Amino acid sequence: MKYVSTRSGAPELSFEQAMMTGLARDGGLYVPAVIPTLSVDQMAAMAGQSYEDIAYTVMRPFIGDTFTDDEFRGLIDAAYAEFNHAARAPLKQLDSNHFLLELFHGPTLAFKDFAMQLIGQMFQASLTRSGKRITIVGATSGDTGSAAIEAFRGLENVDVFILFPHGRVSEVQRRQMTTPVETNVHALAMDGDFDDCQAVLKDMFNDFDFRDGVNLAGVNSINWGRVLAQVVYFFSSAVSLGAPHRPVSFTVPTGNFGDIFAGYIAKRMGLPIDQLVIATNQNDILHRTLQTGAQVKEGVTPSISPSMDIQVSSNFERALFEAYGRDGDVVAAQMDALKDNGSFSISQGAIDMLRDTFASGRSSEAETYATITYELVRSGELLCPHSAVGVTVADRFQSATPMITLATAHPAKFPAAVEKATGQHPPLPPHMADLYERSERVTRVPNDLAALQTLIKERIAK
Ligand SMILES: *Cc1c(COP(=O)(O)O)cnc(C)c1O
Repeated sequence: MKYVSTRSGAPELSFEQAMMTGLARDGGLYVPAVIPTLSVDQMAAMAGQSYEDIAYTVMRPFIGDTFTDDEFRGLIDAAYAEFNHAARAPLKQLDSNHFLLELFHGPTLAFKDFAMQLIGQMFQASLTRSGKRITIVGATSGDTGSAAIEAFRGLENVDVFILFPHGRVSEVQRRQMTTPVETNVHALAMDGDFDDCQAVLKDMFNDFDFRDGVNLAGVNSINWGRVLAQVVYFFSSAVSLGAPHRPVSFTVPTGNFGDIFAGYIAKRMGLPIDQLVIATNQNDILHRTLQTGAQVKEGVTPSISPSMDIQVSSNFERALFEAYGRDGDVVAAQMDALKDNGSFSISQGAIDMLRDTFASGRSSEAETYATITYELVRSGELLCPHSAVGVTVADRFQSATPMITLATAHPAKFPAAVEKATGQHPPLPPHMADLYERSERVTRVPNDLAALQTLIKERIAK
């Protein structure tokens, strides 16, 4: 299995190389050269299987010879062993035909654990084999950072630096990043918003001297390994509602477009997905893009769903690549326009493809609060604000097909909003109960590439 860049200007890589690299050297994102499909029989056989069994069937065709069958199966088992629910990704029923896919039973209480725990295992296996040492730098709107730190803390041959926007993550999110005591963990609070963090990270990857000098590796959702791990729960949940014999729809609270793109991959692999709905908060660039056919960047307005406060949605590039029939030159030109002018227009053919594939909707702050309040009455479920954005939008797309909304984080990660909407303070699970007592360790940094590079070099030299 080979991987190609969405900008067609970088060498083809193996799964292992694509995973360790993150961003392609032409600035593009790696995607599989061919998307494998599963047969109806293979999908039907998933009924009643464990999450790990399904994960193996779904991901094995993408891995090539990076790991042996047994090795890969062992990594999957290790990745999900620390989850707090035997089903890993359980479904709850909200209404007669609306289901919630709970993706917050991992160690840091957000869906990011599904990918990060597996990537942690795969990186470790690969580095043990090669004897290499790497520097992971990640940008986070809140949840990727804690999930990455949890997956890589204490590893011998890895330093992990996480850039988060100062003052724009929830207190629980911040404390999850600043309280680990391992010296290979570096939490950096940067001046600016998440898009600034992501932009400086991309600049770091595009500085090849620095990139090669520190052995830079990326674990943001541009990393193909992360998207792949997220494909699995689209299968596990759909199968438990009758797929492949019965189609299902999904609504995905969306920021960087990683999770919803994983749903698109599941569909391309043969899973009968009817509607694939992008749910955005007030930072609705993706919803506007589908409506107008043009992507126009506006400022980010902080919301109660901070992990979705994004205007530059990196993985959208992967969808564009498919929409343009895999023409990497066109994608490169559009991404240059976005960087230079803050906008680009999508061709008629490409926007038609995107509208055939994705539906979209937006939830205002008031609607999100109202949904948290209402859902507690309707089903007894306490939603985090991101999941509530999803439920708000999903309720507009109800049909005879079962709707599955992804619950992307645990309500206890965002207690202020949940308490305001319901009067209830969602308690942290026992393994995190003392989070507010642990001491914090964080470095405040400017939005400045050179200063960050110096800091990283100094820290890893120690
Ligand atoms: C990361 C995140 C999202 C957005 O997911 P993308 O893959 O970036 O679209 C939504 N909700 C929560 C809680 C998140 O952590």
